[in-house]
Amino acid sequence: MSKDNLNNLLSSLEKSLATLDDSSSDKGKQYGVIEAYKDGVITIKGLSGLKMGDVVQVQNTSIQALVMNLESDASFALVLENSTEVKEGLMVEALNRQLSIGVSDDIIGRVVDPLGNPTDGLGEIKEDKRMPHEKIAPGVMTRKSVHEPVQTGISSIDALIPVGRGQRELIIGDRQTGKTTVALDTIIAQKGQDMICVYVAIGQRESKVARVHNFLKENGAMDYTVIVNAPASGAAALQFLAPYAGCAISEYFLEKGKDVLVVYDDLSKHAVSYREMSLLLRRPPGREAYPGDVFYVHSRLLERAVKLNEANGGGSITALPIIETLAGDVSAYIPTNVISITDGQIFLDSKLFNKGIRPAIDVGISVSRVGGSAQTKVMKKVAGTVKLELAQYYELEAFSQFASELDDATKAQLTRGVRIVEVLKQKNGEPRTLWQQIAALYAVTNGYFDAKEPKTVVDEVTTLFTKLESGNKDLIESIEKEKNLTDDIKAGLEKAVKKILA
Ligand code: ATP
Ligand code: MG
Repeated sequence: MSKDNLNNLLSSLEKSLATLDDSSSDKGKQYGVIEAYKDGVITIKGLSGLKMGDVVQVQNTSIQALVMNLESDASFALVLENSTEVKEGLMVEALNRQLSIGVSDDIIGRVVDPLGNPTDGLGEIKEDKRMPHEKIAPGVMTRKSVHEPVQTGISSIDALIPVGRGQRELIIGDRQTGKTTVALDTIIAQKGQDMICVYVAIGQRESKVARVHNFLKENGAMDYTVIVNAPASGAAALQFLAPYAGCAISEYFLEKGKDVLVVYDDLSKHAVSYREMSLLLRRPPGREAYPGDVFYVHSRLLERAVKLNEANGGGSITALPIIETLAGDVSAYIPTNVISITDGQIFLDSKLFNKGIRPAIDVGISVSRVGGSAQTKVMKKVAGTVKLELAQYYELEAFSQFASELDDATKAQLTRGVRIVEVLKQKNGEPRTLWQQIAALYAVTNGYFDAKEPKTVVDEVTTLFTKLESGNKDLIESIEKEKNLTDDIKAGLEKAVKKILA
């Protein structure tokens, strides 16, 4: 549209606005005009009161746009839908509010897009409260230190890299190393643990998300889980908004004093969508062509993970962001950013994965900086020696081929290490309960697998679980109830494990 045309349009607009009847429903509304529409970005003229992050709506449609750039004579907004209805010359209305998502308890079990619209064909979701996508994280005085565990059901995590409620633990690794699986197994392990889960799929193929949905449904996890999906085929702006939407949904339940687990799968794709958006908005690119504030984009999201104190309801949001690396390079821009924002990292290694050690967690470099204080007493006592024994094993592993020349102590360390690695192997979709983890770790650290062939250990562990379940109900109950290694429980474990394995 030429400048003259636009000026004519603007002046006629002003005239018609001035003559508007006071009783008109348009009273008090503010309008601007779309001067240009290109690559999903609209240039708005005539709305001087807009703020960053405001929402505008294209007139006579339900299409919304998010204001992302403000200049002296125009504002730039990202259209939140791929639509052919948006055209130059149309009017836009300032809604005078920031972006928010309508949430109620009914959202549990549903799949929604980042604006809260259901995409699973199961009908409308009732709205109880609107939660803002962007919100300042809770301050220090409302928080409490992390002190309760998230039982992930994955032994190598619960024993060695424990995660606490309210913690931010990064899952990082190359493609196809089981990152999503670790997060999904953690979700299905939350059954009966009084936890609401939110899985945010960012820039994934629809078929993959459908598989995740089915997997969670089959394992009964959709009873307490919400999926937020911003597929690769959708607008970059929606992919950018997805984790904030997931966080807003989590905060709805946090306000009710609930514990929430939120998975962002994954923030690498999120950074890419933000880069795409920023380039469309002509912001200057920085390192690796990402905009300079991509660190802030992730830090303000992850700061919203929290453990609140009792005065503020006592709820928590535990965040499990996922990052994909290229050829194990954790020193690239986005990985180092997110590593520095989180309270610990679970490193998944493609070499371990290909060797069949799954989950392929590299326990040597994985850490959890706050979760240790949240570990159950029984786990702390039983798993105490595991990390050291594993570390010693990995150090000696290189010598194992000269086994005949080694002294007995070294041989014993190697024997034990091999079996610990076997006990920590777990199939996907089979998270362990607390008593199962305790029984398996107790057996291996007390040498009950030392005499078994390494290849048979995985089956022996399964046998151990089945036999304990059928013959030692009381012991199982007291482990789950006490969560401590009392003398009685220790004696009970010793007796039962000896009977089954010795
Ligand atoms: P992507 O980079 O594509 O997102 P990812 O790192 O999220 O991949 P997953 O999709 O979780 O990896 O897993 C990759 C494959 O490995 C899947 O086929 C999955 O079934 C298999 N897998 C993952 N963990 C295990 C496991 N513990 N035991 C057996 N198979 C597993
Ligand atoms: Mg994945």
